[in-house]
Amino acid sequence: MSRLPLPLLALTMLTASLLWSQPPTPSPATSFDAVAATNAYLATVPADKKAHSDAYFEGGYWLILWDFLYGAAIAVLLLTTRLSSRMRSASERLTRFQPLRTFAYWVQYLLITSVITFPLTVYEGFIREHQYGLATQTFAPWLGDQLKSLGVGLLLGGITVTALFGIVRRLPRTWHIWGAVTGLVLTALFAVIFPVSIAPLFNQYTKLTDPTVRDPILSLARANGIPATEVYEVDASRQTTRISANVSGFLGTERITLNDNLLKRSTLPEIMSVMGHEMGHYVLNHVYKGLLFTLIVLVVFFAGLRHALKWSLARWGARWEIRGVSDTAVLPLAILIISVFSFLYTPIGNTITRTMEYEADMYGLNTVRQPDAFATIALKLGEYRKLSPVPIEEMLLFDHPSGRTRIFSAMRWKAEHLSARIP
Ligand SMILES: [Zn+2]
Repeated sequence: MSRLPLPLLALTMLTASLLWSQPPTPSPATSFDAVAATNAYLATVPADKKAHSDAYFEGGYWLILWDFLYGAAIAVLLLTTRLSSRMRSASERLTRFQPLRTFAYWVQYLLITSVITFPLTVYEGFIREHQYGLATQTFAPWLGDQLKSLGVGLLLGGITVTALFGIVRRLPRTWHIWGAVTGLVLTALFAVIFPVSIAPLFNQYTKLTDPTVRDPILSLARANGIPATEVYEVDASRQTTRISANVSGFLGTERITLNDNLLKRSTLPEIMSVMGHEMGHYVLNHVYKGLLFTLIVLVVFFAGLRHALKWSLARWGARWEIRGVSDTAVLPLAILIISVFSFLYTPIGNTITRTMEYEADMYGLNTVRQPDAFATIALKLGEYRKLSPVPIEEMLLFDHPSGRTRIFSAMRWKAEHLSARIP
């Protein structure tokens, strides 16, 4: 366990240096000053609005910490009160079939932890979102969405946990390797089914029919070698005021989706700027690169998990009435260990994602060629993301480039193209 942080730290520094290797120097050959233009865009945001979105985003930093500590406390509670061992025994009385016992344990575990975390869930997902004017739902439909999420968690989490415990039991010496491989296969499988089976549970997805928006998007897709014949619209305004778009799916279920807030509140060049970014994700194979990163992370996490479980079970296993790594009562301990790893991994994960987002920004700028629309859409995204963080803050805590970085990228692109050195 003590060996883990070092390679992770090295990876952070490597990815961070990749992102920060572009020096912010404006072109000397033109009178257009990219830094001044960036500052001018940022200055259009009223001070109270900026303070509002800064406070929302900075509060999110603390939530990362509180979520981690709250989750850790629950795990310790389940272990030290031996509630976990009692849930295991209850699942054994229910059936003799081991996979069903694991599934039965999972159902109890998820229901109990969901109840204990409910106050925090309500604060984070409902109260706080309303305080900052980002939520559109009343409590009942919000709760309905939470219950649907719980159902999805019971099923998909149950499948995952049952598969992993099956591997631990059958392959006691190599489970950490096969566990990582299984984790990857399940991640890919969930990515395939997500846009067609899970996302429609929460929102309505419709094909975009307005030709004045759809046709330029499909034309841009063809120009970039993307075999898309449809663009999807989602009624995100059911839950939120945020503007957003995404690429989801994998192995034939890939799709580009715009949300209705984006469509309602943006000009065509702004919409095209967002689409150029999303197409960048597709053309640059970010789904495949993401899966490759996932595999690396899973291998490291599972190796660390194996060592940490062995160490902690030798100390406390008997006291917590856990029979070994294949005993489902070990689950809170395994989740606690993984949550420690994930907490430490936060800056690395953010940097990997943010680096790909930056690549997609560059791709979008080059294909759409609308730097000013790109800048104004970055300002709109700044309603829920801090616009101008200090560099170390952006490096550790941002999973997308900040508004300042994005606007500067666009203004630098504009300056270099205005200089007429790029034909
Ligand atoms: Zn993106």
